[in-house]
Amino acid sequence: MSDDIDLFTAGRGFPMDHLSPSFISKFEECPLKALYYREGRPAEYDIRYAEVGKHIHSILEKEYNPSAEIYEPVCGMDDMMAIRRNQSIEGYMTLRKQDRRFDPREGTQHPEVHVRSEIRGVPIIGFIDLLSIRGSMVYIDDWKTGFPGKRDEQQIRIYTMMVSRIMGIPPRDIIATLDYLREEPRRIQKRVPYTSTAAIEQHIEREVIEPINDLQFVPVRGSHCERCEYRKICEAW
Ligand code: SF4
Repeated sequence: MSDDIDLFTAGRGFPMDHLSPSFISKFEECPLKALYYREGRPAEYDIRYAEVGKHIHSILEKEYNPSAEIYEPVCGMDDMMAIRRNQSIEGYMTLRKQDRRFDPREGTQHPEVHVRSEIRGVPIIGFIDLLSIRGSMVYIDDWKTGFPGKRDEQQIRIYTMMVSRIMGIPPRDIIATLDYLREEPRRIQKRVPYTSTAAIEQHIEREVIEPINDLQFVPVRGSHCERCEYRKICEAW
């Protein structure tokens, strides 16, 4: 799901109809960038990376849901291969299968799980790539085709908070893992440490909801600007 927020349309109250974990993490990196994104400003990025991401996600989803459709990239397979360092999409599947952390017969696995929660009356809506349940433990997997970054960690912490609230289980019983698929065979799996649900909620309320409520979209300049897709149009430079 893409971020989909209804900004500036409400007139009264909170100016969005909902937030998503990916929009929140984008806002935390740079509120101005989040605003550009929302306004649909022309972004400069290589569409092939997004196409690779969608394609890989659909392949992995199909592993757990046979009725899922494989997304065919508009840029074509040759283009996709050209941007990959190790040229094997099939390699993803081999690695993934070798790496299953438990026998699926021992639990249940659910790809593309829609989750919805709210903070201070603002709906938070997102999709979890893979949610697995085994006994009293819940596993959240987020498949990433980009480079590792802090934003991803925040995103999966928000998912942990949401699952904890929705399923009524403590965050310590939720194992959240970022699964970076980009550079197999040096693929990275990163376990994101547990953070208290209340701490995440307070943080989002203070650092995201309140500034958006006040229509504060200040630029945050830093090393992340180098790979920002709005760098050329950014008013902060
Ligand atoms: S270039 Fe930097 S300051 Fe400007 S929008 Fe992008 S991240 Fe924000």
